[in-house]
Amino acid sequence: MDASKKVYDNILQTIGDTPLVKLNKTVADLPCPVYAKVEFFNPGNSIKDRMALKMLEVAEQEGKIKPGGTIIEGTSGNTGMGLALAAIQKGYRCIFTTTDKQSKEKADILKALGAEVIICPTNVEPEDPQSYYSVSKRLATEVPNSWYVNQYDNLANRLAHYEQTGPEIWEQTEGKITHLVVATGTGGTITGTGKYLKEKNPNIKVWAIDSYGSLLTKWFKTGELDMNEVHPYITEGIGEDFLPENYAKDAIDHFEQVTDKDGAVMARRITKEEGIFVGYSAGSAVAGLRQLKDQLTKDDVVVVIFHDHGSRYVAKIYNDEWMLDRGFLDVNTVQDLIGGLGRRRLVTVEAGDKVSQAMELMQKYDIEQIPVMKAGEIVGALSQNGLFKKLMADVQVKEQEIETVMEAAIPLVAMNTPLERLTSYINKDNNSVLAKDESGNVHILTQYDVLNALSKG
Ligand code: PMP
Repeated sequence: MDASKKVYDNILQTIGDTPLVKLNKTVADLPCPVYAKVEFFNPGNSIKDRMALKMLEVAEQEGKIKPGGTIIEGTSGNTGMGLALAAIQKGYRCIFTTTDKQSKEKADILKALGAEVIICPTNVEPEDPQSYYSVSKRLATEVPNSWYVNQYDNLANRLAHYEQTGPEIWEQTEGKITHLVVATGTGGTITGTGKYLKEKNPNIKVWAIDSYGSLLTKWFKTGELDMNEVHPYITEGIGEDFLPENYAKDAIDHFEQVTDKDGAVMARRITKEEGIFVGYSAGSAVAGLRQLKDQLTKDDVVVVIFHDHGSRYVAKIYNDEWMLDRGFLDVNTVQDLIGGLGRRRLVTVEAGDKVSQAMELMQKYDIEQIPVMKAGEIVGALSQNGLFKKLMADVQVKEQEIETVMEAAIPLVAMNTPLERLTSYINKDNNSVLAKDESGNVHILTQYDVLNALSKG
């Protein structure tokens, strides 16, 4: 976006000229300044707008797509968004193939922008005719006047960054940049930006951040494309299981791998501590930079690319339950665990209710232990075991008031209690504890919740 311009003719003109923003808390212990190139300022909320438009312009120049034509690509995310925006302005149709692993929301976003989205099965080999690669390739041969984008091997991808991202960073740092850090996938961003910057100053170091489970790091270090390196990982947008043609080794100095957990945790920190609501790969980039911090000196100037916006990840890294399920949250105290479980309604009964009402609730919600309340206070509990014994002795207990048969209250523990200490409260007679948060809401933690958290930590 060119700040000196007052109005734009269309949204595509707002692509690029993104701000460079100093990071403070997340890199406070590094010896030098670190700036983030915040790419979610692009209209599609990611850096991919740049290359999407560039690839389309080059295809037009080369006559690969003609007016009214159809753009075809296998994408569910940022590239699809950029292509869809460009297609609207330029009057093309878009067909995107994606996998059923991707969230429905992503497909809906692309549909909202007028694209046709074809969902293909995830669990098939790339060569399978049903795979999203095969379907997009086949469509490109069947649909008249269509153009298959192939962002991996389309060199206009890296050209966009050579022409835009590199020069912008050079100018914004007044030529002072010493290190560029880029989480890498197709290789377009790192190769294009790195090549431009190295032409300006060959001493600039370009560090690629990769995911464990990708074969790129080993390729860079040994030249080998080793499929043994490849395993499923969670981080989105970075790493590959093949070598895209956009890579050029001489634009890059080092490859560093980052775990799914470290990337996710760091993305959340950047959002909370810097106020920059970033996507997953920005977290990986900063986590990777931090792994390399001993190589930096006070005279260095680091630029890290933040590829996209956190709104795409609200159901993932910004969801505590999702993080907890994958063992990405360090759960040490009752507070940590409650935070990770999300809001769950605590089912209670009143001391004056009938036992049969409690039985119904316990059955409906499949709960073993239920707190008994009186005038807003916890006064006791009913457990399946205890009730069973009493009902066996006298089935008429069902009709009595809960107060007459209830057991001792479930222990109430402080929010900062370490999880290990809960073993002294949770035993064969009592399978849960209660804790009250700052707002006075009471939460229940069962033996299952605690074991589950400890096994993942
Ligand atoms: N982060 C995110 C969120 C992305 O969508 C991408 C694109 N795959 C990347 C990083 C990597 O960028 P590139 O493909 O240019 O290497």
